[in-house]
Amino acid sequence: MSVYDRDNIFAKILRGEVPSHKVHEDEHTLAFLDIMPRTLGHTLVIPKAPARNLLDAPPDALSRTILAVQRIAKAAKIAFAADGITLSQFSEQAGGQVVFHLHFHILPRYDGVPLLPAHTNVESNETLAPKAAKLRAAIADLGT
Ligand code: 5GP
Repeated sequence: MSVYDRDNIFAKILRGEVPSHKVHEDEHTLAFLDIMPRTLGHTLVIPKAPARNLLDAPPDALSRTILAVQRIAKAAKIAFAADGITLSQFSEQAGGQVVFHLHFHILPRYDGVPLLPAHTNVESNETLAPKAAKLRAAIADLGT
């Protein structure tokens, strides 16, 4: 079984070594906008505990992460006026995984609009920042 690489890009984001547009943080999870969005508001949710992917995630970290996913998905649907949400998670290279720290993709969807291919464009800080602010506000509006 492959081991967890402590120098993957999301571990660096967790340690604050690489910047990100955070939309949610608690003791166990972090969520931030994807830098190469496949749709408006494409958001990644990760556990703080080291886990390579779904296959080695500690059950407690996994359950806390999926609860955060649900909350952020609800807020993203409102914030970005989406018709629905696609949730995706890739495990190992053959499964489509590129970054080896467990993450869930929250993808706001619009009727009849396909997702962009992965890794199409790196979005600028200037355009990501207001989207992150909008999603943070929608999460706050959900209450506790
Ligand atoms: P996966 O591993 O599930 O295939 O996808 C990794 C995701 O991480 C991709 O959607 C990619 O755009 C995103 N990503 C890669 N590097 C960075 C980064 O430095 N910052 C952020 N916010 N997202 C990243």
